[in-house]
Amino acid sequence: MSILYQSTRSEGEAVTASEAILQGLAPDGGLYVPTEIPTLKESLKSLSTKSYREVAYAVMKEYLTDFTEEELKACIDQAYDDKFDTPEIAPIAKAGGDYYLELYHGATIAFKDMALSILPHLMTTAAKKNHVKEQIVILTATSGDTGKAALAGFADVPGTKIIVFYPKGGVSPIQERQMVTQKGENVSVIGIHGNFDQAQTGVKNLFADEALKEKLLAAGYRFSSANSINIGRLVPQIVYYVYSYAHLLKIGAIKNREVINVVVPTGNFGNILAAYYAKQMGVPIDRLICASNENRVLYDFFTTGVYDKNRDFVLTSSPSMDILVSSNLERLIYRIAGDDAEQNAWRMKSLVRYGKYDITSLMRERLEDFYGNYATEEETAQTINQLFSEHGYLIDPHTAVAATVYRKYVSETADREKALIVSTASPYKFTRSVMQALGKESDEDDFTLADRLCALSGIEIPKAVKEIRTAPVLHDTVCEADGMKAEVERILGLA
Ligand SMILES: *Cc1c(COP(=O)(O)O)cnc(C)c1O
Repeated sequence: MSILYQSTRSEGEAVTASEAILQGLAPDGGLYVPTEIPTLKESLKSLSTKSYREVAYAVMKEYLTDFTEEELKACIDQAYDDKFDTPEIAPIAKAGGDYYLELYHGATIAFKDMALSILPHLMTTAAKKNHVKEQIVILTATSGDTGKAALAGFADVPGTKIIVFYPKGGVSPIQERQMVTQKGENVSVIGIHGNFDQAQTGVKNLFADEALKEKLLAAGYRFSSANSINIGRLVPQIVYYVYSYAHLLKIGAIKNREVINVVVPTGNFGNILAAYYAKQMGVPIDRLICASNENRVLYDFFTTGVYDKNRDFVLTSSPSMDILVSSNLERLIYRIAGDDAEQNAWRMKSLVRYGKYDITSLMRERLEDFYGNYATEEETAQTINQLFSEHGYLIDPHTAVAATVYRKYVSETADREKALIVSTASPYKFTRSVMQALGKESDEDDFTLADRLCALSGIEIPKAVKEIRTAPVLHDTVCEADGMKAEVERILGLA
């Protein structure tokens, strides 16, 4: 059966998976969604004996139906190899009675590696399949982790260039250093004076700029997106929910068909949306617990049915979740509106014009799989401290937001179904906040702090951190939020 992709904003013609991956965003500004969510063809029990790569194939082949077996397997093999520091790729740890799905064992020690290790291969394969002659220019806005993971994935991939914009001062020093030291002939990294939402809006505007598109084509380029709106990001993220359920079965932590809850620290809504798709595919997931930091726009949405981004933007210790416009939520809105593009489109227009929209009571009923809550900065730090002092398990602030929200969920609902808490970054990516939470605040630089954290916890410093310690800074351009277009034109020689 072949799955096609259509825009969340109009009933236009559906495109193939490879076309959707190449385009990133639909021409009308909508997001591509599968015309149907496929089911798993193999039982979870049978998948429990398989490797990560084998599960990845079993899941992704259902979505990327215009890729041949050979093409898809080649992409998977190139992505999930020894760039990861464990052959398990996505190991599960148990601490304090809960399971933590560690998605930070890839090249840049955050969960974005799970999808961005494979996206460049999916994209270059898609370009070949569609006889694309232009060079692909990846344009990305990052709140910290996407940028580095995309740079690492696309660096020196033939036929591509990548330009990353990040909010100067809005990412951790280690995140920034990871990006500005990135090697590769085809990479550019630019800081903007502004926050992540401004960077993201700037990128969206560049994608929508028809005159710029013409100029690009004439010069032999075309834009594509590595942001989590690309279905080439979303589909690989479904894999680890299937894999982790199968893994829990394998180790006897759950019985066959036992339902579990998943707890996801959420920003752009990509990761938790993948869990929602995994559930629709047949993974026995009960509640999808959406954890926010003090930028609690999603919590407010789930509790009131109103999405309202008109509020102050808070800089927190979990910067990859400092987001007021959760782009991927649009796919859920489309779905709960009954796959109705028109219903979705006017809400997204309202979001642009008034900064908010609301949903009907029927749509709210369709959200019952979800539970939303948030963690304050203080609660987040407490959770890190407590989990480490009581159970010797160290987590980063994003994961701690999830762990905190999970506690709130349990005390509110008394639901003790087994929980899989999604762990999205290595504690070494946010060393300063983690040390502060452990009561070891200091003025020392982040690398010295990493040494101290290592001495304290006995957890080895990841290679990704060791490497950037001495690497030279290769990118130091900074621009205003309204100067992004000029930068892109300069880099591509269009000015
Ligand atoms: C990106 C990111 C998140 C948020 O994921 P979304 O898919 O945007 O919801 C959470 N934690 C970390 C460490 C991240 O990098």
